[in-house]
Amino acid sequence: MKESTRLVSLGRDPERFGGMVNTPVFRGSTILSSSMAEWEQKKTDRANDVAGVSTYGRFGTPTTHALEDAVAQLEGGHRSLLFPSGLAAIVTTLTALLSAGDHVLVTDSAYSPTRTFLARVLSRYGVEMTLYDPRIGAGIEKLMRPNTRVVYVESPGSETFEIQDIPAIAAVAHRHGARVVMDNTWGTPLFFKPFQHGVDVSVQAATKYIVGHSDAMLGVATCSREVWPLMRQVTQDMGQTAGPEEAYLALRGLRTMGVRLRQHGQSGLRVAQWLQGREEVEAVLHPALPDHPGHALWKRDFTGACGLFSVVLKTSSPEDVAAFVDNLKFFGLGVSWGGFESLVVPFTPGAAHTGARWPWRGQALRLHVGLEDVDDLIDDLAQALACMTRRRSPGRLPEPDLARAA
Ligand SMILES: *Cc1c(COP(=O)(O)O)cnc(C)c1O
Repeated sequence: MKESTRLVSLGRDPERFGGMVNTPVFRGSTILSSSMAEWEQKKTDRANDVAGVSTYGRFGTPTTHALEDAVAQLEGGHRSLLFPSGLAAIVTTLTALLSAGDHVLVTDSAYSPTRTFLARVLSRYGVEMTLYDPRIGAGIEKLMRPNTRVVYVESPGSETFEIQDIPAIAAVAHRHGARVVMDNTWGTPLFFKPFQHGVDVSVQAATKYIVGHSDAMLGVATCSREVWPLMRQVTQDMGQTAGPEEAYLALRGLRTMGVRLRQHGQSGLRVAQWLQGREEVEAVLHPALPDHPGHALWKRDFTGACGLFSVVLKTSSPEDVAAFVDNLKFFGLGVSWGGFESLVVPFTPGAAHTGARWPWRGQALRLHVGLEDVDDLIDDLAQALACMTRRRSPGRLPEPDLARAA
């Protein structure tokens, strides 16, 4: 089956559900058994990890199991587990794989709440963290310690967009007996296949492109066969579970994820290229642009790009930035991404992003390019940049299109 067909077919079984095209929303806590024999059988099946068997709502329903199956197959892993948020999937994975006295290597480009969890919570349980430069590749060898158990990767970083050499990092990690955990939210299960590149656990903030409509929070962790028993056990021990409504929305999102992502990717690249030609712009950070430092790695390992990238303005004046952002009509100011709508959010790169890593001086903004017509989006950016410029030099002649509008 080709990818588009898999997106339409996985996690659906109409014959099982009265012919319904979609797997219905199963709500429930108690799951009754009709006899002692069935009760015992279910307990045995759960102990033997038979897929799709549940004895309690917390352990899943047909709705949540359908989504887990679909994502596991799309990512190319053994099995998946659902969580109430992407962050819950990340912290449960790290808790499962790390013990007191262990060391974890984390890319400094990782989603900042991930780094905060390690620094603020797991540190209290005796887990030591070292941040590394995402461009390190096989050079990660020199940071490995005898007690390094996890190498955490995120490619590209979802603000600063460095691409990581995942196969090179995974080869070193495995040689030292460490597992590789990846945040694959940008790549989605379509554009990056983590298990073909040496990843042991791949985490998705399904909140983003899988749900795809900014109307639910959900996380998924997909595991290799080797880490699955431990991940399943700890997830259960920690009481992690996800609601059936959210799983239903994610299953519905999957059906259109292929076409949505193609459009996000195409429009995103057009907007990125257009921004590169603007004099107000210092840099555009998008791995599909040929002059991006990670472009060759991206081309080697990824089969596409989503609609998320960053731009650095030449100005760093808060008044300029406000004049630009406040005048945007189609780019909403807010965090998250992966929905149908365009977004903008200012950010300050972390302390590691200095010197050669971050030579730019202007304000950085992350853009999510949504499914609006790309010409409308470009016109919107153009008029907001013009508002910014007009604020700075009131004596200057207005931009030609504004003169026409007047
Ligand atoms: C949003 C996000 C997360 C966290 O997902 P939530 O569902 O918001 O908890 C993790 N990683 C990345 C890269 C994200 O963008």
